[in-house]
Amino acid sequence: MNTCPFELGPIRPVDEAESLLIRTTRSCPWNRCEFCVNYKGMPFSIRSLDEIRKDIEAAAKFHRGRTFRTCFLQDGDSFVMKTAELIEVLAFLKSHFPTLQRISSYGRAQTMIRKSPSEMQEICNAGLNKLYCGMESGSDAVLKQMHKGTTAADIIKSACMAKAAGMDISEFIILGLGGQELWQDHARETAQVLNQINPHYIRVLTIGVKPGSGLEEQVRTGKYHFQTEKNIIEEQRLLINTLDGITSNYANHHMVDLLMEARGQFPQDKPKLLAIMDRYLALPEKDRIHYTLGKRFGLYQKMDDVHNETYRQRAETAISSFLNSYPDQIEEACQQLRAQVV
Ligand code: SF4
Repeated sequence: MNTCPFELGPIRPVDEAESLLIRTTRSCPWNRCEFCVNYKGMPFSIRSLDEIRKDIEAAAKFHRGRTFRTCFLQDGDSFVMKTAELIEVLAFLKSHFPTLQRISSYGRAQTMIRKSPSEMQEICNAGLNKLYCGMESGSDAVLKQMHKGTTAADIIKSACMAKAAGMDISEFIILGLGGQELWQDHARETAQVLNQINPHYIRVLTIGVKPGSGLEEQVRTGKYHFQTEKNIIEEQRLLINTLDGITSNYANHHMVDLLMEARGQFPQDKPKLLAIMDRYLALPEKDRIHYTLGKRFGLYQKMDDVHNETYRQRAETAISSFLNSYPDQIEEACQQLRAQVV
């Protein structure tokens, strides 16, 4: 039974688990990316100021006594709102939740570049001071194949404009998005775009081909070939190694990532991050398969977990049973398990 007296969208960033959620738009104004099923079949709309104000009032009543420092505006792109209306929402929100220090939203590059630098400044001054950008790749070839509807140049322009306005930027990258054909371009060109933006945060996710997605159709028709787990870590190594001159916080932070321990601050932690990739890549094949399947089965979180006797015994039982039944389907199973992670 839904007891929440205000409307909520289906998703929020991992980093916003403790945040107040207020819905300004429904669905995504683009909704055509090949890998994404987040808002599939959900028509896009901008909620009216009246509806949003009522929801903020209901949320203030519902959460009475709770102190929020952060708020995330759902769904896919609040920048599609008229600047004056977005600013009005931010002011109303702050008047009802005066302890808010950070208000964040997803922002599409194509929408943000339609705002002027002074509008971005006004939005930031009104309180929207953190942006989550689904950059996914810095390679135009990958962006095109994934129907992302944007280019590396637009991603750089929008992110730099938001940064200049004073917003914190978190860029999401999807490991494995280039498939077997474009993985090197994907890694190098993504790093080069990130080098130009120098975002505050870089958050990587690993591709899982979702049922019903356009990418699933590309796999079926042979246009896209997913990489092995090992190759995706080689790709991540190339990405990290090409990152240069930045001061970003870098993290594998989603359950779908194989090496959750790969987190650190650039530039000082770059050698540590590379060492984590090298440690995985240097594992003997049997150990690499063991850790990879154990992680995909949800029995390990990080490589050191294989030394925990309880975890290891559980993983050995599950993995040997899997390998007895499906000895040649390790990569397919990993890909399917990645696709199930939300
Ligand atoms: S990835 Fe982002 S921009 Fe693309 S369809 Fe999904 S929500 Fe929209």
